[in-house]
Amino acid sequence: MSEYLLEIKSLKKTFPIRKGILGRKIGEVTAINDVSFFIKKGETLGLVGESGCGKSTTGRTLLRLQEPDEGEIFFEGQNITHLSPSKMRHMRKEMQMVFQDPFASLNPRHTVERILEEPLIVHGVTDSAKRKKRVYELLEIVGLSEFHAKRYPHQFSGGQRQRIGIARALALNPKLIVADEPVSALDVSVQSQILNLLQDLQKQLHLTYLFIAHDLAVVRHITNRVGVMYLGSIVELSPSEQIYENPKHPYTQALLSAVPIPKMGERKERIILEGDVPSPANVPKGCPFHTRCPNVMDICRTIRPEFKEVDKDHYTACHLYH
Ligand code: SF4
Repeated sequence: MSEYLLEIKSLKKTFPIRKGILGRKIGEVTAINDVSFFIKKGETLGLVGESGCGKSTTGRTLLRLQEPDEGEIFFEGQNITHLSPSKMRHMRKEMQMVFQDPFASLNPRHTVERILEEPLIVHGVTDSAKRKKRVYELLEIVGLSEFHAKRYPHQFSGGQRQRIGIARALALNPKLIVADEPVSALDVSVQSQILNLLQDLQKQLHLTYLFIAHDLAVVRHITNRVGVMYLGSIVELSPSEQIYENPKHPYTQALLSAVPIPKMGERKERIILEGDVPSPANVPKGCPFHTRCPNVMDICRTIRPEFKEVDKDHYTACHLYH
């Protein structure tokens, strides 16, 4: 039996750019390009990068909420890349998603009870007493109460709504949760409550997480390993401590320089990146980061660096290390 709950190999996803009333294809955006990683059972892998870097597309593609163009997805050793829609529906019980904006992802016209019952109905729980019991159980495990069941999403605070989003994801006892920026839309004071809840649930229910965030500070204390994405590719991946203590890739170093100082007395110089992120419709040749990298060399402009191990379990794609 594989020790990996999930493994993706060379995943690629592009979206067409269309123009005119006939929707003629005039180009394409490379949302994810040759992305590979695994997530071990029970661990939390963080996926971090600026908006538009492909992290959310990676999360959605590995759940097959959108289809990859190339590459393979394995869940518990089984290749699910081409599973039929009906088999995939069955498989999706095991892999659920928590969304960034709980308000947008919860139907405003449905009570919480109905929202939480829905996945149970879709997956064939026909006994309404059983469903009700499960709804109350779910409310309790996310820190809400039975009396919340009859209320509507707008009657809750942002943090409570995210608790409902988490309860819905847990309804079918999944093994993997893809949490797509689950605290970004919340007040800072509420963020840590939701992070603590996710950590408690992980222990209690033996969950495995892919935690997507745009900020390295958010994932620092909850991840076992972190991958950093830039323009559709993973540029660095390592155990969390190593990436925070000794980042290798210049992009990770720049992101980390913006994070509050980790140790008392330690001064960090903020690395300001010049220029904007290039368009994913026009990814630069060579290293995709070369247009903004403070360490750029001639080779970076023409040859794309390979993603290689530079320290134990620490991978990066940068010519500085090869
Ligand atoms: Fe910078 Fe070159 Fe490394 Fe890319 S390969 S991150 S441009 S030093």
